[in-house]
Amino acid sequence: MKNVFLIKYGELAIKGKNRHLFENRLLSNIKKNLKSLGEFLVTKEQGRIMVEPVEEDSIDVNTVLNRLSRIFGIVGIAYGLKAEEVSFDAVKRLALAQMTEECADKNITFKVETKRADKRFPMTSMEVSCELGAYLLEALGDKVKVDVHNPDVFLMVELRNHAYVYAKTHKGAGGMPYGTNGKATLLLSGGIDSPVAGWMIAKRGVEVDAVYFHAPPYTSDRAKQKVVDLAEKVAMYTGSMNLHIVNFTDIQLKIYELCPHEQLTIIMRRIMMYISEAIAKKNGSMALITGESIGQVASQTMHSLVCTNEAATMPVFRPLIGFDKEEIVQIAKRIDTFETSIQPFEDCCTIFVAKHPETKPKLEQIERSERALDEIIDEMMQKAIDEVEVVKIR
Ligand code: ATP
Ligand code: MG
Repeated sequence: MKNVFLIKYGELAIKGKNRHLFENRLLSNIKKNLKSLGEFLVTKEQGRIMVEPVEEDSIDVNTVLNRLSRIFGIVGIAYGLKAEEVSFDAVKRLALAQMTEECADKNITFKVETKRADKRFPMTSMEVSCELGAYLLEALGDKVKVDVHNPDVFLMVELRNHAYVYAKTHKGAGGMPYGTNGKATLLLSGGIDSPVAGWMIAKRGVEVDAVYFHAPPYTSDRAKQKVVDLAEKVAMYTGSMNLHIVNFTDIQLKIYELCPHEQLTIIMRRIMMYISEAIAKKNGSMALITGESIGQVASQTMHSLVCTNEAATMPVFRPLIGFDKEEIVQIAKRIDTFETSIQPFEDCCTIFVAKHPETKPKLEQIERSERALDEIIDEMMQKAIDEVEVVKIR
């Protein structure tokens, strides 16, 4: 009898030839993520991935469950027992051990459910469930009772190449295995929204790199550290991330000097898009990601978004576009970026912001204003791109 983590993934959503690729990527993501927590055997078995600790005593089950619950593509995780041989006797041994633990400090109700992947097994699923239930009632006496409608414990039996028994399934992160769906570059600020936006796209299997526009000395080292911390929080789900830090000071000062102040934010945003796209192309990204949501601030009205969008030729993913702030905050709390995001460090956009920013900018007007930058901006952008600092988060 051995302890094992059974990994459930969305097998129905994964179709055809791709299924193989998805499963293999999920398998290698699991191996990579668990590496620092001990030695594990990770294997595929008929629609499940099994994770077996090599030395059971040397791992902390909750830490492993926590780590597994952050891996995209996993729908549920159960920690249970495994027997090498697939026989009813083996199932009885596993079930008794599991149930003895479940009812150790309180009386419980239970129901047995059986999945039979190996149809050669001589009993039907129903027969296994019924006979096992009867056996447990007899073996455990007053401590357990059957309740088929609302049991405290669902005792699950799975008959595959081996026999498995478990009681509780923990919720997984869902989504698609990280790295199975191309790459995109996230414009990551120190705010609440952009880390959530990056997390949402990464959840769909897209590899995510990030760009942060830093304006020292107007924005401090601590503001920069906050963004590094946020990238680390997102990387808790993705495994790793390259954060590109662009020095934006000279460009911002030039915009401030040469362009109408009520258009500063929009022009700045557009230049962020140009630079991000150049960085994205270099790192193999196919799209950009921002944390914008319609109407949240002046720079995110429909009119403003149209002007910003026009600056990019790549698709721009805005997964939060229809979300209210409260909905975004909820996700930020759940994925543990919120506490970092609300640390009160200055942001480059708030320092150079106008008192009365334009809320209905027209693209032609913005382009006209940008002409004041024509002579210098290409060179300045190229310098910013050439001098980008890359922080590798692992
Ligand atoms: P966030 O919480 O993500 O900062 P926000 O509500 O503060 O969003 P804005 O400051 O208007 O909104 O920024 C809109 C989007 O532009 C951000 O979600 C982010 O994708 C991008 N962005 C803004 N400032 C920066 C920056 N300094 N570096 C990189 N991206 C930025
Ligand atoms: Mg912001």
